[in-house]
Amino acid sequence: MLLDGKRAVVTGASRGIGRAVAEALRNAGAWVIGTRTAAATDPDPACQEWLEADFSDLEQLRACADRVRAAGADILINNAGINKVAPFEAIDPQDFLRIQQVNVLAPLLLCQAVIPAMKLKGWGRIVNVSSIFGKVSRAQRGPYSASKFALDGMTVALAAEHSGHGILANSVAPGFIDTDLTRRVLGDAGIAAVLANVPIGRLGNVAEIARLILWLAGPENTYICGQNIAIDGGFTRV
Ligand code: NAD
Repeated sequence: MLLDGKRAVVTGASRGIGRAVAEALRNAGAWVIGTRTAAATDPDPACQEWLEADFSDLEQLRACADRVRAAGADILINNAGINKVAPFEAIDPQDFLRIQQVNVLAPLLLCQAVIPAMKLKGWGRIVNVSSIFGKVSRAQRGPYSASKFALDGMTVALAAEHSGHGILANSVAPGFIDTDLTRRVLGDAGIAAVLANVPIGRLGNVAEIARLILWLAGPENTYICGQNIAIDGGFTRV
């Protein structure tokens, strides 16, 4: 299979986009190590191995990065992310910092953890899950947009330093995808309102995002690095 012999780390693999990506990588033959915030009561087949860590806790994040470093991953998908909408003048500094820690600092530490093994092998693929709100922004998206624009900038810097070592880093920018996060943040009325601005006229689904990430993270991607690829039903371009 396409990813036989590859070891992949997917953050936030317990649900939503991360879960679909973990399943896609596993179905393509990879050994998948997923992170989740808490242990599940039943065995979860999405990944062969699980690491528990809440990235808003720096000690847990550092411990997780140490485990990821020891795993010698070939593929890293930084998917875990959080959002909290708030009017600009009401943004709470603690919320702001928590969002940057989960959405930007965690990907940084995990990239640092996987790069040494990737360099030794001369091969690695990193996909950071950004957002359309890392390309454009809207009211009440200050902390989230700050984090996703930052994640994109970090991805470009990563590609500048490591593409020559065979490590291809990219980010993807999903639009409005049907997940818990979207339903919680927007609600039914909010979803109806945003769909008026999505040329394809529906929410995206997690399988569509997983297919793009699977391709970017695999051996068929040989010449794309440092890009931020929107998968948004046309929202940011059309
Ligand atoms: P979700 O809320 O359904 O799942 C988020 C995942 O992140 C979960 O697995 C959760 O365990 C993990 N996570 C949450 N808080 C965490 C923490 N403190 N520490 C460690 N892990 C944590 O979200 P989703 O919709 O699947 O989003 C996944 C990624 O895609 C996020 O980075 C999000 O910003 C991005 N995204 C989502 C959409 C969308 O429409 N759903 C659009 C654009 C970008």
